[in-house]
Amino acid sequence: MKTKILDGNEVAKFLKKNISEQISSLKNKNLIPGLAAILVGSNPASRVYIKNKEKVFLKHNCFTKTFKFSEDSSEKEIIDFIERLNSDDTYHGILVQLPLPKKFNTKKILHSVSPYKDVDGFHPLNSGLLIEGNPNFIPCTPKGILELLNYYNIKTTSKNIVIIGRSNIVGKPMFSLLSQNFEFGNATVTLCHSKTKNISSFTKKADILIVAVGVPNMVDAKMLKKDVDIIDVGINRVNDNTKKGYHLVGDVNFNTVMGIANSITPVPGGVGPLTITMLLHNTVKACRLFCTRGSIG
Ligand code: NAP
Repeated sequence: MKTKILDGNEVAKFLKKNISEQISSLKNKNLIPGLAAILVGSNPASRVYIKNKEKVFLKHNCFTKTFKFSEDSSEKEIIDFIERLNSDDTYHGILVQLPLPKKFNTKKILHSVSPYKDVDGFHPLNSGLLIEGNPNFIPCTPKGILELLNYYNIKTTSKNIVIIGRSNIVGKPMFSLLSQNFEFGNATVTLCHSKTKNISSFTKKADILIVAVGVPNMVDAKMLKKDVDIIDVGINRVNDNTKKGYHLVGDVNFNTVMGIANSITPVPGGVGPLTITMLLHNTVKACRLFCTRGSIG
C-alpha cells in the first residue's frame, strides 16, 4: 500500500481562492483587512513565521505591520500598546507571536487583546465559545487541520482519534472541535500528554493520529495501526552541515511510516501553510465583522 502525502500547500492554494474573493469584495467597500503582529525578543522560528506571514498578507493585498519589542520591554508597555491597537481601526486583527520570552505572563498579555480582534482565537471568550460549540475565531492550526481533513475527504464521524499534545494552541482546541456534534467532529477523541502512560496503547487504536509535541521523530511505525491517517503538526529544527545549518523534521518519523499509514502530512509543507492561511481567513473574517459592527474604539 502506498501512503498518500497530504499536501498542505495544495489545500492552502484551494482555500485562498475563496479568501481572495472575500478580500476583493471588502476592497469594493474601501476596506483592507489589517493585521498587527507583536514580536517580542528574537526567537528565530518566530521571526521566520512573521516573515512568511508578511509575504502571504502582502501577496493577498492585505495590510500587516509587525511591532517589535525587545526582551527588556516591560509587560505594561506591551499591554498598553495592545490596548491602543484594540481601538485602532487600521487593524482588524492582532496577533501576539508565541512563545513569549519566559519573563512575561503570556496569559495576561493574550487576555489584553480585544476578543473582536483575536484572530488567533486565544482569548478566553473565544476559547469558551469554541468549547460551547459556537466558535467565533477558531485557532489557526486546528482550523487548518479541519480544512485539510475536509479537502482530502477524511471523515471524522465515529472514528477513534488520538491527539498527542495538550497545548492551548493545538491539542486542546483540536480535542474540543473533533469531539463536538458537527460534521467535522463526532469522533471519539483521546488526548495524550507527557504524563500519559504507555502512549502506544492509545496510538495503536487510532484511525486518525494528530501529533503536536515538538519532539523530533517521537512517533514511529511500531506505535501505529495499519492504514492510520496522520497529521504531523511538529516543526523541529535538526542541526546539519548544510549552509543553513539545520533542516526541519516533524514529530513523526516520516520514512518509517511509509507503506503503513494510509496518509500523512509532510514537514515542511503539511500543516504549516494552512496555519498561515487560516490567519489570513480569520483576519478577513475580523474585517467583515468590523464592517457590520463598526469601530470598537
Ligand atoms: P507545547 O505547548 O510545547 O506543548 C507540547 C505538548 O506535548 C504538551 O502538552 C506536552 O505535555 C506534550 N509532550 C511533550 N513531550 C511529550 C512526550 N514525550 N510524550 C507525550 N507528550 C509530550 O507545543 P505546541 O505549541 O502545541 O507545539 C507542538 C509542536 O507543533 C512544536 O513542534 C511546534 O513548533 C509545532 N507547531 C506547528 C504549527 C504549524 O503550523 N505546523 C503550529 C503550532 C505548533 P505536557 O502538557 O504534559 O507538558
